[in-house]
Amino acid sequence: MELPFAESWKIKMVEPIVKSTREQREQWLKEAHYNVFQLKAEQVYIDLLTDSGTGAMSDRQWAQMMLGDESYAGATSFFHLKDMIKNLMGFDYVIPTHQGRAAENVLFSFLVKEGHVIPGNAHFDTTKGHIESRHAHAIDVTTDDAKNTQLEVPFKGNVSLEKLEKVLKESPGNVPFMVLTVTNNTVGGQPVSMQNIRETCELCHRYNVPVVMDSARFAENAYFIKMREPGFENMTIKEIVKQMYSYVDAATMSAKKDAIVNIGGFIATSRKEWYEGAKGFCIPFEGYVTYGGLAGRDLNAIAQGLDENTEFDMLHTRIHQVQYLASLLDEYGIPYQRPAGGHAIFVDASQILTQVPKEEFPAQTLTCELYLEAGIRGCEIGYMLADRDPETRENRFGGLDLLRLAIPRRVYTDNHMAVIAAALKNVMDRRETITRGVAIEWEAPLMRHFTVQLRRL
Ligand SMILES: *Cc1c(COP(=O)(O)O)cnc(C)c1O
Repeated sequence: MELPFAESWKIKMVEPIVKSTREQREQWLKEAHYNVFQLKAEQVYIDLLTDSGTGAMSDRQWAQMMLGDESYAGATSFFHLKDMIKNLMGFDYVIPTHQGRAAENVLFSFLVKEGHVIPGNAHFDTTKGHIESRHAHAIDVTTDDAKNTQLEVPFKGNVSLEKLEKVLKESPGNVPFMVLTVTNNTVGGQPVSMQNIRETCELCHRYNVPVVMDSARFAENAYFIKMREPGFENMTIKEIVKQMYSYVDAATMSAKKDAIVNIGGFIATSRKEWYEGAKGFCIPFEGYVTYGGLAGRDLNAIAQGLDENTEFDMLHTRIHQVQYLASLLDEYGIPYQRPAGGHAIFVDASQILTQVPKEEFPAQTLTCELYLEAGIRGCEIGYMLADRDPETRENRFGGLDLLRLAIPRRVYTDNHMAVIAAALKNVMDRRETITRGVAIEWEAPLMRHFTVQLRRL
């Protein structure tokens, strides 16, 4: 008999979590203005708000924490991280930052000027925020495949070369770089193929446009290349990662994702002039260039996390769990972005709450309903997050309206996955009774979804 699948780790430390009653949750959600970002974590049973900074570090990472060098400048921990990045990604220049958006802030402060055009395969919200706040334009060039949530293609995060070339042609001299996001978070944690990475970079370089890889989930992307792209099945994850980075000019990284740390990020590049330019913004925003807003112990934990999360068994354990949740949703007929992404399931709210008009934010409403059902906190990746057009100030209803269930790395068991699926099924079963959504009472001018206050209609 073939042995069943099991995790490639065992558990050394546990943290209790508690259930609540529906009555309690109704009260808490009301107090949170129907925005789950405003809930207290202790009011949540299973927290799928994000996979960012929520992973469980390994015993080796904790051991590295103890070895952190807390010297202000030139700490051994910095060189440890720098060497790891050089080995994995091939870049010579590294600037640590306190998280991914800080890497964007530091690098974009040097590179992005008013009126610039920056194409990308569905820029992440902070990436877009850092572009638009500088009065530049983020243009989405993801393939149209990503718009159809039910289409099963292996690399739905890919760049459309036609859309990209159109942008490059129309804005000569005005494109400081292109952002290539792996995996493509915004369209559902969908991977980008090696072929698409290569062709995207070749196209950009033909127009003298460098490519920045937004690398939050680079290791998960490499896993999908190994599993899905012909010719890569016998390569190690580390070999695939090396090849991915051989095409690009720089990386911005949220280490809170695929380096499995609770805080951290970095910029890495082969371009000395970018490094020299970005340095000047690191010091005022993040701190001296060998620590970038982090403690020496954090730099060590990132280095260790990068090493262990670019091993096949670790990634296989993780993505197997996401696919297990997807298989339960299939069983219950719950529509989600297909195939399942690397770090999350993106439930298609517009196909579940069909009676809630888009002006009443179906995915935000589904997020509330799942919390009320079982204390599970998901995250709206839809019309609320899409925010308003910076010029017309109209809500952007053009994209997908999804409820993201992000799975923290090495935190929950498959039994928790079964609870999540059953809770969603219960919401699905009573969806006919959900006819109204939410209305905005207050919103911030930028990245409103974190703090928006809503009223239940
Ligand atoms: C999380 C994320 C970021 C921003 O990183 P933070 O560490 O949250 O600041 C940027 N890009 C992508 C694709 C991300 O997933």
